[in-house]
Amino acid sequence: MAETTKLHDLEFMPFLSAIELSRVVDELSEKINIKYEGKTPLFVVVLNGAFMFASDLFKKVSVDCEISFLRVSSYRGTASTGEVKELMPIGTDVSGRDIILLEDIVDTGKTMGEVKQKMKEAGANSVNICTLLFKPDAFQGDYLVDFVGVEIPDRFVVGYGLDYDGLGRNLPSLYQIKPNT
Ligand code: 5GP
Repeated sequence: MAETTKLHDLEFMPFLSAIELSRVVDELSEKINIKYEGKTPLFVVVLNGAFMFASDLFKKVSVDCEISFLRVSSYRGTASTGEVKELMPIGTDVSGRDIILLEDIVDTGKTMGEVKQKMKEAGANSVNICTLLFKPDAFQGDYLVDFVGVEIPDRFVVGYGLDYDGLGRNLPSLYQIKPNT
């Protein structure tokens, strides 16, 4: 894992290694396998950021499941715009289904709050949220985040699918913005 990495104008330092991330993904998949035994959940991967996490997680999910994708956007640069835009709708009937929303990071919670609400309105039987990363100090939601990989400080992170203005998604580990940048 490189010491620091520069993306556009900002410097980032190592935060969680690929090995640590893999352990977190293992733990999440075990919890999902237990909770959904005998069911056939529909995973909805929230793009773009969750693609790498989702791909690693699915290799460890042993229950029968379906996988679908939803693309939303609320971030510009390193701050949330507070406005959630749906750029690619799910295109699968969710009525009566047990949904697991797969998200890279829950920050203010606005994105997952809106998506969860939409799934319920569309008649989902249950909607659970599984996020790799959770920022408790930034969270403003009034709902439960059902599966949390790691709780992290309220600082901007990149790598393992997460970007800074388009760059950094391909990094296999997670980096955090350097203090004083
Ligand atoms: P929320 O609606 O919970 O405030 O924001 C969720 C979305 O914001 C995530 O799906 C992710 O795209 C983006 N986001 C939140 N925090 C970070 C962060 O630290 N780094 C990056 N790269 N994206 C973030």
